[in-house]
Amino acid sequence: MDEMPGKVYLVGAGPGAPDLLTLRATEILKRADVVFHDALVHPRTLELAARAEKIAVGKRSGRHSTAQKFINKRLVDAARDHKIVVRLKGGDPTLFGRAQEEIDALRAAGIDFEIVPGVTAATAASAELGVSLTRRGFARHVVFVTPRAANGERENDWVASVLAADTAVIYMGAGLADAIGAELIKRGKPKDTPLALVESATLPERRVLRGTLADLPELARKTGAGPAVVLLGEVLKAAFAKPAATEEIEALLKRA
Ligand code: SAH
Repeated sequence: MDEMPGKVYLVGAGPGAPDLLTLRATEILKRADVVFHDALVHPRTLELAARAEKIAVGKRSGRHSTAQKFINKRLVDAARDHKIVVRLKGGDPTLFGRAQEEIDALRAAGIDFEIVPGVTAATAASAELGVSLTRRGFARHVVFVTPRAANGERENDWVASVLAADTAVIYMGAGLADAIGAELIKRGKPKDTPLALVESATLPERRVLRGTLADLPELARKTGAGPAVVLLGEVLKAAFAKPAATEEIEALLKRA
């Protein structure tokens, strides 16, 4: 027991495309002894961890998931047996990824850790749309929110944040589209606020849908089973001109 415990790296895997991984993340994966990964991490990203034992602990809403407390314990235990332990999370590890619970557990156990940031879904989606989330003199305030709250969590007034923001990106909301649309309109968000729904950003099966807040339920019904974010705000108007043409071309190609 006189051996030093290992180190745990909380690594962002990015939004999907394996080449959006950082070089730092790549180097750590190559050296990893064990990798605990989310369900949505791309197989090619996992392949980089050639010498590591790979353990899926991912959560996808509605499906079986490994309880968070158990994941925390496994990270601590793994760091006692291995030098380089990776907790690989989709997007950026510090956004809607329960990273703080893991960090708290590692700190409590006296285990060294390091966070390696990743490309988050919001910026992957703005890239797909070809728009800037901020705009000089016009949109200086961006919020990342989720309407999802676990049982027993304190109340989450995500609506107030969206109403106050110039640009809002809603995570984990596609399945709640009807309620999100209704709630925002009820609380005073204009129905004609430009909106986009981006599913599976950066992956070949990506889908980009545009409309207004009033269209949200209808747009959400057109998405598939991939992860999706909803973006709202005037900056999205700039996403309409060219991509609308792209959609027309895509429709023509489908018919051909
Ligand atoms: N830590 C992640 C977010 C985890 S919560 C990040 O920084 O991106 C999971 C949610 O992220 C999904 O419900 C969806 O809203 C969003 N998401 C993840 N990958 C996505 C992708 N490729 N395209 C669109 N949304 C995505």
